[in-house]
Amino acid sequence: MDDRQFRNAMGKFATGVTVIVTEVDGEPHGMTVNAFMSVSLTPKLVVVSIGENAKILNKIKESQKFTVNILAADQQTVSMIFAGQLKEHNGVDFDRLGGQPVVPGAIVQISCEVSAEHVEGDHTLFIGKVTDIHLTEDSEPLIFYSGRYRSLAEVTPVVSK
Ligand code: FAD
Repeated sequence: MDDRQFRNAMGKFATGVTVIVTEVDGEPHGMTVNAFMSVSLTPKLVVVSIGENAKILNKIKESQKFTVNILAADQQTVSMIFAGQLKEHNGVDFDRLGGQPVVPGAIVQISCEVSAEHVEGDHTLFIGKVTDIHLTEDSEPLIFYSGRYRSLAEVTPVVSK
């Protein structure tokens, strides 16, 4: 099995899009991540998977904190900025949640403290203990599927007879 086949297969799992943000010496740094999952309700834990070459990796190790920002349908540009795909932009301002930097306009902002980290292959899994959440009801998420951005569409409900 080659890398392309693996990537193509994994890309068939439709996801939302998050920006992970951490802060070292008062400087926020973000990265676009779709490898995000809820892990546990008691205690409240989430996980993100960060590639070994990502600049944010050592920053999270140093700060031991990060925020997860679930992007809204109109935030494709934000995703591209934090994926390094859009070099020309006017900078990004951050809001604060529990003192940590968060992305304005995200439909959910979650602040976390690192509770564990596991190196698995060429990625590091950071388990985050959730310390605060800000949720915007009734906003639509940005979707990523098969290497492209999408938006949600309603499906006709199945009616049992
Ligand atoms: P960096 O330079 O660290 O950062 C990436 C970009 O963010 C740069 O252009 C930088 O200018 C910008 N940026 C960072 N901080 C700021 C700031 N404060 N203000 C303004 N701009 C800033 N990779 C993974 O490891 N795990 C994943 O789950 C994952 N999912 C992805 C999902 C999608 C939809 C996409 C498009 C990419 C995903 N990636 C993932 C890839 C990852 O986003 C890129 O490889 C990454 O952005 C490159 O990081 P870097 O450390 O090389 O660049």
